[in-house]
Amino acid sequence: MHELALAEAVLSAAREVAEREGLERVTKVAVRLGALQRISVPTFEFCVNEVRPGAGSKLAEADVQVEIEPVELACRPCGRHFGIEQANALEGDRAEAVHFIPELVHAFIACPDCASVDFEVVKGRGVLIASIEGEGGHGA
Ligand SMILES: [Zn+2]
Repeated sequence: MHELALAEAVLSAAREVAEREGLERVTKVAVRLGALQRISVPTFEFCVNEVRPGAGSKLAEADVQVEIEPVELACRPCGRHFGIEQANALEGDRAEAVHFIPELVHAFIACPDCASVDFEVVKGRGVLIASIEGEGGHGA
């Protein structure tokens, strides 16, 4: 149900952007999903098609493209930026656990330089509409 709620939120955000930009018809919506959001892309795409408004709506024909934003972490003590794949102590079962329960990232990941577990998530969290394309009613 996680993906369904997200699909609804994305379509409603896309509709708002389309309104604001005066688009009559949206042709493409690029969605960026943080890798920590534990979204299944095929499930998300399925849900988008389930909740997509019907013929005559701005979004009926929109091609919704999903891009996964990789995780970037920043170590507070040493300032090193690193990705999950570079982090220490994250293999096998632990990698799986973080994939499914993002909050575990702090329990399992350590900085590859100084081994600190004090870091922030710079990228790879959240959901956003990266871009929207369409045909407008303002002569575009
Ligand atoms: Zn460090």
